[in-house]
Amino acid sequence: MQLYSTKNKASRVSLEEAVFKGLPPDNGLYMPEAIPALPASFFEQIEHLSFQEIAFRVCQALIGSEIPDEELKSIVSDVLTFDAPVIKVEEGMHVLELFHGPSFAFKDFGARFMARLMSYFLQKEKKEITILVATSGDTGSAVAQGFYNMPGIRVVILYPSGKVSEIQEKQLTTLGGNVTALEVAGTFDDCQRMVKEAFLDASLTSQMMLSSANSINISRLIPQSFYYFYAYAQLKPLGKPVVFCTPSGNFGNLCGGLFAQRMGLPVHAFIASTNANDIVPAYLKSGVFHPKPSVATISNAMDVGNPSNFARIQDLYDGDLEKTKAHISGYSFNDAQTREAMRSVYRQSGYIMCPHTAVAYLGLKQYQSENPTAVNGVFLATAHPAKFVDIVEETIESRIQIPVKLQEAMNKPKQSIPLANKFEDLKNYLLQRK
Ligand SMILES: *Cc1c(COP(=O)(O)O)cnc(C)c1O
Repeated sequence: MQLYSTKNKASRVSLEEAVFKGLPPDNGLYMPEAIPALPASFFEQIEHLSFQEIAFRVCQALIGSEIPDEELKSIVSDVLTFDAPVIKVEEGMHVLELFHGPSFAFKDFGARFMARLMSYFLQKEKKEITILVATSGDTGSAVAQGFYNMPGIRVVILYPSGKVSEIQEKQLTTLGGNVTALEVAGTFDDCQRMVKEAFLDASLTSQMMLSSANSINISRLIPQSFYYFYAYAQLKPLGKPVVFCTPSGNFGNLCGGLFAQRMGLPVHAFIASTNANDIVPAYLKSGVFHPKPSVATISNAMDVGNPSNFARIQDLYDGDLEKTKAHISGYSFNDAQTREAMRSVYRQSGYIMCPHTAVAYLGLKQYQSENPTAVNGVFLATAHPAKFVDIVEETIESRIQIPVKLQEAMNKPKQSIPLANKFEDLKNYLLQRK
């Protein structure tokens, strides 16, 4: 597999290089040189294939010979140890549940795949690596779970003390093993700054191989295309065209869907649904991409003011607004609308949505009211409602069940190392524990 930078289409790197670098040196984003279409025969029999079989075929087409088929098969099977079911919520409205993995959010797909890909390359070359991540919550728990017990990899997570939810903190701090949580006396921005300084510190990087687990890493995007194929496979017997509505922040999840469509998946339309951080829906209306500081909402994993995967969307459609609009519709919703959707869906069907999922539900509803052709609509459920238990319970005015695995993490003692918000302290810690 060869990739180029969105800022230099003539450049080429291997998948291995793109995975460990994360970002090209010119600050663009890595894009596959080719996104090959799968053969018609694959789509003719897709409903008879398992999730793992579908994902393997997708990976094999994208990655090619850089990873031998047998290795790729075992990586994919090891990533997809949980299901992604499509469930009917209302007539023409289905939910694709992406929260059955270990951290109860869709970021498990990306983090688990990245971890296994890195581990494969590291073992091949007998190298060791330290993954350094700053987190404000969700990314950290998916990364911690995804890299847990991966050979050759140590994980160091920085999180701002007192500024992540209790559930998120427990998910970060109770694993042990190769995962260490550093509890920083400061803000998320402090954590991010310290991590950035570490990557720029020549004396540190000469002594250990550091890598990030950033959400813009291409290895996190690839697996986010798998479940669009699998959802299509589940709905294909119903016959109607399929539309997907993805609750979006950095737009990595949506990009996975766009890749799937490029690979031949017959998707009638994509809907990008955001909270009040409406940068992309505003772009689709006006043609002007105008990043802004993010505003806080109840769907906080989507509070993004400068969506990092926008450059990839531009690349896919040559920066052409009309072409982009031909594939993607965009809507945004405020917190009051989000809560109303959570309440009304719960009352009408008993289905419980996390706030992010509710934003996707609203986007699909809006699209269907503006485009009344009969379709099978799918909205993506990106987190288990129990991860946002306070907001969900207060909104639907009912208690919800906490999954056993989440409850177990809640009952384990927190293990974190307190750290000042100073880079020198981080550096000392990393060198001491080398
Ligand atoms: C990260 C996240 C999103 C947004 O996904 P992007 O790929 O950044 O658009 C939506 N919902 C939840 C629960 C998330 O954790």
